[in-house]
Amino acid sequence: MTVTQDRPLTRMRGLVSLISALLKAKKVGFSDFLHKCVSSQQFCQSLDTQRTLRRQSRTRREKDEGGTVSSVNAETSQMKPSDFDYLKVIGKGSFGKVLLARHKKHEGYYAVKVLQKQIIVKRKEQRHVMVERSVLLKGLQHPFLVGLHFSFQTRNTLYLVLDYVNGGELFYHLQREGSFSETRAAFYTAEMAMALGYLHSLDIVYRDLKPENILLDSEGHVMLTDFGLCKEGVAIGGIMHTFCGTPEYLAPEVLQGHPYNPAVDWWGLGTVLFEMLYGLPPFYSRSKAEMFENILHAPLKVRSGGSQDACSLLEGLLERDVSKRLGGSHDLVELQEHSFFASINWDDLLAKKVRPPFIPKVTGPCDISYIDPEFTLLPVPASVNERCQAGRTSEAFPGFSFMKPVERLAAEPVS
Ligand code: ATP
Ligand code: MG
Repeated sequence: MTVTQDRPLTRMRGLVSLISALLKAKKVGFSDFLHKCVSSQQFCQSLDTQRTLRRQSRTRREKDEGGTVSSVNAETSQMKPSDFDYLKVIGKGSFGKVLLARHKKHEGYYAVKVLQKQIIVKRKEQRHVMVERSVLLKGLQHPFLVGLHFSFQTRNTLYLVLDYVNGGELFYHLQREGSFSETRAAFYTAEMAMALGYLHSLDIVYRDLKPENILLDSEGHVMLTDFGLCKEGVAIGGIMHTFCGTPEYLAPEVLQGHPYNPAVDWWGLGTVLFEMLYGLPPFYSRSKAEMFENILHAPLKVRSGGSQDACSLLEGLLERDVSKRLGGSHDLVELQEHSFFASINWDDLLAKKVRPPFIPKVTGPCDISYIDPEFTLLPVPASVNERCQAGRTSEAFPGFSFMKPVERLAAEPVS
């Protein structure tokens, strides 16, 4: 591993000072803040790099042919699009939008992921979508994983009704602040590690760890969303042969088309930790070909000033040899024993007893102040509230509709 100062990182540091200066000078609203910042070329360049990264990552989901789909007998035609008021666009995914919605009767707020069947079928990605739903359905219950309440479909659209997590994407905060302190990065990394370890214990590999799939809840805890690329049925030590994911966060074995196992998630965690500490993913280059080459062969470059523990953890997670990678043999336990996490009490962390290093200032369950205006300024598509009733299922998505048993009880009329 070499220690170096490279140009994008220097730019990021400049950006951080600019942001802190602006924030210190005045308590500005975020839009004022953006207006002031756009006059800075430095800011634009950095933002541009991160935006490019983000767009690239959004458009590069690769085809997955391997996931198994568990059969679910919770088909229900009770839910329909018109049960919700759609308030705002809060995110964009590969197949459609994610909307903040309020259930008309229960008045609860949810994030509704709306997927266009046509796009899914065109891209032959039915399996991805069914895997996402089946993973969410597996009864996944973990403090750091987004939960599914309902799923239903109309002729053209699939709907996944999830917890609305309103502290913003980790990426949003990282973009604003440039980088995080080691203490703050350790907290998020530890919470993500627990969620990943839990998935691995159920033979699920997350695979798509990247900043925009990591959300903060209103208290500042991590919530992983987006199970579209999860792979079921992969035991630790088992292998997968399909290639998918986002290039800048891809593990070398995936990039090379080699079989891979749950340790891909520990590589992913290493890339996210690196980005939290230094503002850009490791091995980053504007040129995709060069980035691939870097991931496969370039020495890991960490900035001077980082602690020995942080360097050692990054080296352990970003180890190309899977058999030597931290977490490669005994999964989460290996990470938990690392000195970078010496101050973490893992039981307290899981019980959410550890105070998060940053507490989002949200005023209520429908607050959207941490959602990127890039999304919230978009009009809510009228098509989302399709007039036709739910229940007409497509052959491509049989058994998609679902209601959590507890919600089903609440929805059923009392006789
Ligand atoms: P990608 O192309 O990144 O794989 P996707 O189709 O898998 O996208 P998601 O990542 O699930 O879609 O959602 C897109 C965005 O919507 C997320 O990056 C996030 O900003 C937002 N989002 C998703 N789920 C939630 C949620 N439960 N609460 C709040 N925002 C959410
Ligand atoms: Mg996503």
